[in-house]
Amino acid sequence: MRNSIIKVLLIALVTATTLWATTPTYAQTQNIENADNMADVAGNSAEKFYSTLPKAKGDYKSRVRPILIEGAMNTETEVLVRALKNPVTYSELNYLFVAGTYKDYPVVVVRTEQGMANAAAATALAIKKFNPVAVINQGTSGGQDPALNIGDIVIGSRSFDYTAVKVAYSAAGEGADLTNQEMRGVYSYDAASGKFQPYKEYFPDSTLFKIAQNVADANKNFNVVTGVIGTGNTWLQNIDYINFLHETYGSSCEEMETNAVAQICQNADVPFIGIRVLSDNITKSHDYVPETGKICQDFVLLVVEEYIRDLLKK
Ligand code: SAH
Repeated sequence: MRNSIIKVLLIALVTATTLWATTPTYAQTQNIENADNMADVAGNSAEKFYSTLPKAKGDYKSRVRPILIEGAMNTETEVLVRALKNPVTYSELNYLFVAGTYKDYPVVVVRTEQGMANAAAATALAIKKFNPVAVINQGTSGGQDPALNIGDIVIGSRSFDYTAVKVAYSAAGEGADLTNQEMRGVYSYDAASGKFQPYKEYFPDSTLFKIAQNVADANKNFNVVTGVIGTGNTWLQNIDYINFLHETYGSSCEEMETNAVAQICQNADVPFIGIRVLSDNITKSHDYVPETGKICQDFVLLVVEEYIRDLLKK
């Protein structure tokens, strides 16, 4: 009797341990409604770590142009910053930049902070200060494609600003049908005409895009698709509107930075790509898992490694 109880307990223990070890550790699955309360919790260890890094002395100097990797929040930058060798920090207008090397190649990580204006400003400052050879914007996003799951990665085949629309007129009391809209796009510099022109969408650098796809093919432990990234300062939860955007513009996911960064990179003629992981997908559930930011950074580091190999060939 006693033996069989011990046996049952042992089996239970082994099963629990196996399950614990094999289940992806989404320790902090949140309800999407609480997302904002999560900001500091998930980023606390990063904040502490960043404060221990030495401040750079003098201007940034590098023999070769560094790769710039961007994340808006601590949860989207910590893995990258920890991967840097000999990291030193810079601050410009209070944005945090960490410069070091990865695989013996210069890399700068910037915490852009959330939203389009911050991402654009941090990118412009970084381009002036570090003269990057390429910019990778990456981080979390909300799924707009019901076929995608939390933890899936979207390599941006293009991006657009889903708020850059002209909405059809309706009079007071007639309701607000936002789907009656015309895409207008956002402006950036067009070298051919020498003027700023509106772009309804922005495309990634073809080399970076190909490399990201190769990395996805070679690393099947990541669930990766190529798809359209929709950017706006809005967190949408209205399923009809999300479905409309998905059907009209083909968007795979929404977030708050990619297209703004693509715009600045076009101004500066710097190769760009956006890569996003799904932290949530309201078309399927109310879960929000900010720790998925780690998956995206792990994947991006592989892309960076391949890109360095490609750059060094030249
Ligand atoms: N302050 C919270 C929530 C951030 S969500 C936290 O720190 O956890 C907003 C950020 O995450 C933006 O930088 C955006 O790029 C990304 N994001 C993730 N899911 C999103 C969604 N469903 N809609 C819009 N942005 C999303």
